[in-house]
Amino acid sequence: MSRDRLRESPFPVRANSRAKTGRKRRDKPARLAPCKLRVGDLVVSVVRKDVRTIRLRVRPPEGRIEVSAPFPVSDRQIEQLVRSKRSWLMAKQHEVAQSVMSRAEGADAAEVCAWRAAVETAAPVLVAKWERIMGVHAGKLAYRNMRSRWGSCQPATGRICLNVRLALYPPECLEYVVVHELAHLIVAGHGSEFRRVMDSFLPDWQSVAAKLR
Ligand SMILES: [Zn+2]
Repeated sequence: MSRDRLRESPFPVRANSRAKTGRKRRDKPARLAPCKLRVGDLVVSVVRKDVRTIRLRVRPPEGRIEVSAPFPVSDRQIEQLVRSKRSWLMAKQHEVAQSVMSRAEGADAAEVCAWRAAVETAAPVLVAKWERIMGVHAGKLAYRNMRSRWGSCQPATGRICLNVRLALYPPECLEYVVVHELAHLIVAGHGSEFRRVMDSFLPDWQSVAAKLR
């Protein structure tokens, strides 16, 4: 799983210009390559994609500001929104700078080693527990210190890789990532079928996932 659904803005703005273009959603590419937009002293990364609302996000660890916007929304509209939410964005950036993930960036080798030891101790027990419950079999377990993802799963081999930084979060977070990666042995991707599988095994998974954002 990746940490790419992070810090959704509480300020969704509905795009109402789709009707004006008269084009259908399926005629458009799913997303355009990100571009940079400077708004005063803020630099924001803008991705236009097939969404209905503009969303602002502040991503750890460096507090990068990202905007996802429907295709018809202009740079000017995005600029206005970013200006109007400037104080919220600055507060979020401050919060992100204080976050566990950001502090983990400065960790030394001994700290990383301690995280690894903690995750290597806890994970096999959880994997064995959830293999039984979910009726799947994981392959080799691997542990890495990663910036941008909590875990990964190779369905072909069952190899599961876990981020050792999970040691810095409440134990239910590691358990959630284990279940998430094992769920990929049942279903690929993160679509509705994946969510259904997660709901059936770990009904509370969304609130735990929120702790990892
Ligand atoms: Zn995943």
